[in-house]
Amino acid sequence: MPCSSLAEKKPANTLAARLARLGLRTDADYVLHLPLRYEDETRITTIRDARPGIAAQFEVEVIDSEIAYRPRRQLLARVSDASGTLILRFLNFYPSQQKTLQAGARLRIFGELHEGHLGPEIIHPRFHVVGANEPLPERLTPVYPTTAGLGQATLRRLIERALQRADLADTLPPALRKRLQLPEFAAAIQRLHTPPPEMAQAVLESRDHPAWRRVQFDELLAQQLSLRRAYTARRARGAPPLVATARLTAALLTALPFRLTAAQERAWREIAADLGQPHPMQRLLQGDVGSGKTVVAALAMLHAVEAGYQAALMAPTEILAEQHYRKLATWLEPLGLEVAWLTGSLKKREKEAVIARVGAGETPIVIGTHALIEDKVEFARLGLAIVDEQHRFGVRQRLALKEKGLFAHQLAMSATPIPRTLAMSYYADLDVSVLDELPPGRTPVTTKLVAEARRDQVVARVHEACRGGRQAYWVCPLIEENEVSAEANASAANVKRSGRSQNAVLQLKTAEETFARLSTELPDLNIGLVHGRLKTADKAAVMSAFVANEIQLLVATTVIEVGVDVPNASLMVIEHAERFGLAQLHQLRGRVGRGTDASACILLYAKPLGELARARLKVIFETSDGFAIAREDLRLRGPGEFIGARQSGLPLLRYADLEDAALVEQARAVAEDMLRDAPDRAAAHLQRWLGGREELLKA
Ligand code: ADP
Ligand code: MG
Repeated sequence: MPCSSLAEKKPANTLAARLARLGLRTDADYVLHLPLRYEDETRITTIRDARPGIAAQFEVEVIDSEIAYRPRRQLLARVSDASGTLILRFLNFYPSQQKTLQAGARLRIFGELHEGHLGPEIIHPRFHVVGANEPLPERLTPVYPTTAGLGQATLRRLIERALQRADLADTLPPALRKRLQLPEFAAAIQRLHTPPPEMAQAVLESRDHPAWRRVQFDELLAQQLSLRRAYTARRARGAPPLVATARLTAALLTALPFRLTAAQERAWREIAADLGQPHPMQRLLQGDVGSGKTVVAALAMLHAVEAGYQAALMAPTEILAEQHYRKLATWLEPLGLEVAWLTGSLKKREKEAVIARVGAGETPIVIGTHALIEDKVEFARLGLAIVDEQHRFGVRQRLALKEKGLFAHQLAMSATPIPRTLAMSYYADLDVSVLDELPPGRTPVTTKLVAEARRDQVVARVHEACRGGRQAYWVCPLIEENEVSAEANASAANVKRSGRSQNAVLQLKTAEETFARLSTELPDLNIGLVHGRLKTADKAAVMSAFVANEIQLLVATTVIEVGVDVPNASLMVIEHAERFGLAQLHQLRGRVGRGTDASACILLYAKPLGELARARLKVIFETSDGFAIAREDLRLRGPGEFIGARQSGLPLLRYADLEDAALVEQARAVAEDMLRDAPDRAAAHLQRWLGGREELLKA
């Protein structure tokens, strides 16, 4: 069965496909598919004792049943036990159900009773026919997460079977379990699937029960083992130790119009030390927008070149790649280095020429988009691969990059600060350098929330700022834009029919409308428009006109979200800010406040605001600290979405909570010991939790 996230085809709607959708393949998968909640069918409640709103089981006899037509077609059955009578109401039903509910039938029903017009009733109860004195189940009934077309009964049967067959041997030795105060694996699992009735449901469902702790710990341990193993494997691989002369790096440092911040110095030292090692660096350079990551990347590239190797820098969007290209070209070409540029939108001939020079080792430095990792591109001596905003690349691209750069040193850069617990888990196989200070002389950005109704005042303010010699961005409402694919789409006609491209078209339309409207409202300003669908040359022309202050107001889609750097732009308006994510708003806002002028970011929002949108705007209004914002983002969205799990289509943590830092720490420590002292145990644990999915998880 192909993994659906990679095959991108809808699997057939068979039982196997439904099970695959839930990630159920091996016995271990079933064993680890744990209930969402439980229902208590171990007891019978009498109709008289039932409390409204609380699900309970009743044993009743059908008095009569009929199909009623008012207010709509429905099946009503009157049933009773010794204590009273109630109505079962079915708004959808099968003829077979009607047949079962014949007068005299003896039923067990399960559901929530409430007061209807005709007295107490239950809507859509679960029911089955029973004989007299049929024994009651001894365990609570598990309710599993499922998918359309897959019933609880089927799932229960399959899981029960797997529980009997599967190897439930403990992967934690008794002494360790005792120290961590965790129960045995088999006992914990049995208890969670089929809990005895005396277990309080509330405790089970709150997931604070020791049995849940055990599962959470095991899940985190699997994650840590997998990451540690990747880390070790990488350190065992060879990479060329890059022995530098410091000739080029020193020349750049002298030529720069500024001095490195202490944070940049530190990061640069850490990177340089890694590059000298005989195994591949895998480091993340993390720093808030504007913290100056590019110059650190430039130094690293020069280090590689000094050592006689090539360096490549890949960015997720063409605009961003181009910004890097220009900046690096202005810094590096005066040092006598050729900087090459490679994207999908180059003419075929130009592209081939660049690829040939790269392959012959004639070009020391290459900047580009994911065109850099296409099959045809072969580096003569790739020593260092840098990826900006790596999380914005898709899974497949990340895998391709991993292969291409297998023996090269790798540096990832990110302006999305990763909260500590995430760094400890998903990114545990990376070494991290942090730029925790901004270059001096920045003025903080004032953020204002303005209701759409006051748009005129905002337009007036933009006018005033631009007349006063400053520049502004106007960010168009978001529909959905995926720059990576937008760029790919430009050449691949087959994607044009997809829904995503529909959205891009819609967004383009909005951007063009906004541009037209602002052009009428502000006739004396030079206004530019930039979006993902522009041809590269046109995009470049608009951007350089903006850099040169020939354009005062730049109307843009989210293509300017990352990396764009125009210090004279000190005002940003974001229209329909309520539609943007937190990280995105933070990134966008980071485009201003780069010069010495006081800067402002105006968030225009339309009412009514949803709860989540309100929460996001509040956070972005109250804080400008990227780490605090990332933490809030994590809280509001959950970690899966945060790191692009949506993209990979894989479940990440199902039971454990990354906020549970203490448990993450414990799992990490145990993982280290286990890999060293009991590798077989570690392998068994990984097999149980990840099966064959480990490779994808790391991509
Ligand atoms: P980011 O980390 O967001 O990629 P950039 O590398 O684009 O940040 O840097 C933002 C701006 O700050 C650029 O104009 C860059 O030239 C400038 N810059 C970088 N380092 C320093 C420094 N140490 N002092 C002053 N300005 C700096
Ligand atoms: Mg940058």
